[in-house]
Amino acid sequence: MAEGDTILRAARRLDAALTGDTVTVAAPNPRGRAARIERLDGRRLDAVESHGKNLLLRFGDLTLHSHMGMNGSWHVYPRGGPWRKPRGSAWAVLAGETREAVQFGGPTLRLVAVDRIRRDPQLARLGPDILAPELDLDAILQSLRAEPGRTLGDALLDQTVVAGIGNIFKSEACFAARVDPWRAVANLGDDELRAVLGAARAQMLQAVESGRHTYAVYRARRPCPVCHGRISSRGQGDANRTTYWCPRCQG
Ligand SMILES: [Zn+2]
Repeated sequence: MAEGDTILRAARRLDAALTGDTVTVAAPNPRGRAARIERLDGRRLDAVESHGKNLLLRFGDLTLHSHMGMNGSWHVYPRGGPWRKPRGSAWAVLAGETREAVQFGGPTLRLVAVDRIRRDPQLARLGPDILAPELDLDAILQSLRAEPGRTLGDALLDQTVVAGIGNIFKSEACFAARVDPWRAVANLGDDELRAVLGAARAQMLQAVESGRHTYAVYRARRPCPVCHGRISSRGQGDANRTTYWCPRCQG
């Protein structure tokens, strides 16, 4: 699943390619036609934003909302150039002056009227973006404290608490802060919660710049880089997403 860093990189790539251009729009795949993506044809792309795992392309009073989930993607190509995927699988093609952005797959691609975004069930409930220029840590702590019985690893994935953290940075941030992801939020101090969130933000901002993910514990491919002990892994939370941690360093 693409996490917030990947989405922010995609937003920057799309912004550089198309913002300010009037786009020619096609929806080769029926999924794109069902979303009536062609309504954007002839409109100017005003801005591209990311919020957590969501991409928002602003076209005047219409916004294109994309959530890539496990298998969605956006590609940017020279206009009219070859693609790495079949044309028929593209949900949306946004062709600008010199480049075109092509969207494939994922759980969400839809148009939302700007005046409905604030009440939109998918967008209005999102918590603060972990990569926002001005991060409101107090608001995130308040949301975390609202469900004190929850384990930290589970709560960090809740996009209504904090938007953008996924399974990789859940595990990596807890390790970096030396906090056990299985502890209940109620048993964690504000300093510990701030350390985990700060680590997630720092690691994700680094990944935005480098475009690479380097793992200390995620996927447990190597022993712990600190104590050289075995990394543990187990499904956590309602969605049973695998958490990786070092029982010695995070004990
Ligand atoms: Zn260790």
